[in-house]
Amino acid sequence: MNTYKLPIHLIRQYLFCPRVVYFLEVLCIPKTSPSWVKEGEVHHKKQAELFKRRTLARFQLEEALFKSNVTLSHDACNFYGICDGLLISSTHIYPVEIKLHGSKPTTAQKMQLIAYGILAEKIYKKRFELGFILYEEKGKTIPLHVNEEEKKILTCKVEEIRHLIEQGKLPYSNADDGKCTQCEFENYCNDRF
Ligand code: SF4
Repeated sequence: MNTYKLPIHLIRQYLFCPRVVYFLEVLCIPKTSPSWVKEGEVHHKKQAELFKRRTLARFQLEEALFKSNVTLSHDACNFYGICDGLLISSTHIYPVEIKLHGSKPTTAQKMQLIAYGILAEKIYKKRFELGFILYEEKGKTIPLHVNEEEKKILTCKVEEIRHLIEQGKLPYSNADDGKCTQCEFENYCNDRF
């Protein structure tokens, strides 16, 4: 377990419901993505590629270099992932996440962005204080400022998820009906209904 690295996308799933992480990582039940998720992923990759040719004016960081679909992993961190984009200036790194729908960052989206930023600041040895979430449908670019306290909270959350996986016990969930009815593991949670 000590060498286990948590895929960053599991943070979002954990915040949706801890049991999803248990089913995926402890019981290893394969995830079946609905078609809209696949459409979103294809759209995602296309958008990230397009950015290479677009102006960076929307970020107000004209001198920064943009890289798309960046794999991030570092020996000092027990999590890893692929960030949609990374803006790199002479002093700072700015992670970028691209979402098809929505207009306001959720806690899970912010947590994921912070995780990418923590990795990128270690890899590139630059400061991470700001990231961006792009909502393509609404054409919005939302800047998110990140402080050291929020980075510590993210690190604790990762430890909490790793502990859940290490323990291998079905966790408590307070997910409501709205979540459970859209969850692909509904059939595994009969104890809750
Ligand atoms: S069905 Fe509900 S409790 Fe079970 S994993 Fe899904 S969201 Fe969680």
